Amino acid sequence: MTALTIYFNDIYRAISSALIGMRITIRQMVSPTVTLQYPHEKKQMPDRVRNRLYMNYDDCIGCELCAKACPVDCIEIEVMKAPPTETLGETSTGQKKRIYVTKFDIDIAKCCYCGLCVFPCPTECLKMTDVYEFSEYDRNNLIYNFGTMSAVEVETAKLKVKQYDEEQTAKKAAAAAQAAAAKAAAAAQPAPVPEIPAAPVTPAQSEQPKGPDTPPTQQ
Ligand code: SF4
Ligand code: SF4
Repeated sequence: MTALTIYFNDIYRAISSALIGMRITIRQMVSPTVTLQYPHEKKQMPDRVRNRLYMNYDDCIGCELCAKACPVDCIEIEVMKAPPTETLGETSTGQKKRIYVTKFDIDIAKCCYCGLCVFPCPTECLKMTDVYEFSEYDRNNLIYNFGTMSAVEVETAKLKVKQYDEEQTAKKAAAAAQAAAAKAAAAAQPAPVPEIPAAPVTPAQSEQPKGPDTPPTQQ
């Protein structure tokens, strides 16, 4: 092999080796672009994606099933049974609300997006949305307060419940006192005298011949 042949052979090998190395790069250059210019462009999320939780407070009946289902205890609920005289309205699914939900907080910083709280909710007021941009500088801002009762409304509700409980306690005490008085009056009445049953007539007595009322006098 002459020196010239070796020279051109080396050039060929250098170029072909560079082209082989560049093959993936060249293929990517002509294939469609997949890079998104985030945050100016955003990827379409799948339909059933589980991201930030949303809660519709107006539909909550305070059953606490969601809090019990949560594996990391990030749902905090405070409830209070309303007096039967109070009308709290209905949910959009037609269920009557009977419980004040005075507090409904979700600490989304602890949430693991499992969705276990969503399924047991009887009124379907908990939903997992496709929102994924909710970072904060302060962790406390990740505690979402979904409850809409103001402090004044909570206090008013507490007063109503207290008042109702006191009324019920007074009613029960009055009924108990009435029952005790009736019992005492019944105990103070003289006991009825029991009737003495007549002595049974023996067969011998019944067979004796009936004599005169007065015994006969001696002459
Ligand atoms: S998605 Fe899971 S971790 Fe998050 S609040 Fe619901 S149950 Fe708790
Ligand atoms: S399960 Fe639904 S209705 Fe029950 S407390 Fe939770 S959010 Fe409210």
